[in-house]
Amino acid sequence: VLRVTGVQKWFDDTAVLQGIDIEVAEHEVVALIGASGSGKSTLLKTINLLERVDDGQIFLQGDDITDPRVNADRVRARIGVVFQHYNLFPHLSVLHNITLASRNVFGIGKAEAESRARELLRRIGLEEKAGEYPDRLSGGQQQRVAIARAIATEPELLLLDEITSALDPQLVGEVLDLVGELKQAGSTMVMATHEMSFARRVADRVIFLSQCRIVEAGPPEQIFDDPQQAETQAFLSRVQ
Ligand code: ATP
Ligand code: MG
Repeated sequence: VLRVTGVQKWFDDTAVLQGIDIEVAEHEVVALIGASGSGKSTLLKTINLLERVDDGQIFLQGDDITDPRVNADRVRARIGVVFQHYNLFPHLSVLHNITLASRNVFGIGKAEAESRARELLRRIGLEEKAGEYPDRLSGGQQQRVAIARAIATEPELLLLDEITSALDPQLVGEVLDLVGELKQAGSTMVMATHEMSFARRVADRVIFLSQCRIVEAGPPEQIFDDPQQAETQAFLSRVQ
């Protein structure tokens, strides 16, 4: 689904990503881990074209989305994104937040978009909140709605950036459970996370970033239980 090759990114003269290569297969879940400032969010932003790469290419289903001639809005319509701060539109109801992109970007009719949105709300257990505004929901509920909004358009790829780090600890579980369900349902996901236990449970592959590079990548059991690189070992002993 996704292929990142030789991606480089600088902010002014500071390198943030240096030669990043990643392939993500359909239905695969990849977790990005690494210290604060290691470039996880920047990498997700380059995939969603919120940041331009300085070198290298990114392919989505074989299409080079880093080609300057590409229409960024069209690419973004194929990718679902959820950030740390839920970013729901505060002036729109839950239902309207979820239907917005389907209606405006994909031209789906109101009735169909709303019936799909209600089905999604049923799935995430928030059916009765359809008419509420986001500020009347808990953080965990808002984040579940943000996920529902991201998947409403059936994106080819889902990018999740620290989606639990702004939540009270008791609300983290419900959001992570929902991500687990998406995995079961076959979503392809790349997620940056500080939740090592969650990465271990849900990721097919874990990628450890440090100093602008991929230091080590592999299945969770290998990265967490038997890391090969001293840098990975040092990072994990700090966070686990
Ligand atoms: P965290 O775990 O704290 O979310 P991260 O791994 O997501 O960290 P990034 O946000 O990708 O890290 O940041 C990587 C580096 O790029 C940092 O040194 C940061 O200061 C720098 N950076 C990020 N965005 C910008 C920007 N818009 N302008 C300049 N520097 C930036
Ligand atoms: Mg980040």
